[in-house]
Amino acid sequence: MEVTSITNGIIIDHVDAGTALTVLHYLKVDPATTKLALIMNATSHALGAKDIIKLEDVEDLNLDALGFVAPHATVNIVRGGQIVEKAKPELPEHLVGVISCKNPRCVTTSETGLEQRFHLANAERREYRCDYCDEEAKL
Ligand SMILES: [Zn+2]
Repeated sequence: MEVTSITNGIIIDHVDAGTALTVLHYLKVDPATTKLALIMNATSHALGAKDIIKLEDVEDLNLDALGFVAPHATVNIVRGGQIVEKAKPELPEHLVGVISCKNPRCVTTSETGLEQRFHLANAERREYRCDYCDEEAKL
């Protein structure tokens, strides 16, 4: 097993190459206040290239958001320098408060305070649509 270089936290492996910063954005991880390391475009046997995100002292992760933005990722929970748990995010049935609807006529645009809600419309195509106006979600 490769040296993790973090003691307690989370390593998100097999992130699609070049998308680590997008993933951080949707996970609402603030790079200014979080101890983190990014490895971008690492060689991967499975994917060709991949990104790896290491988050020190982070316990909670929005797995729904991760399933949406990095469906191939592997989540490794690290404690005491050892990987103690692995998880795979799944495509969530509902995404609440993760993405915003881009449709200018959507009710969520005019009514502030409405929760942004999307549902999985097509799992094969990883297609999410707005609960209010049915607009397709875009990263
Ligand atoms: Zn909408």
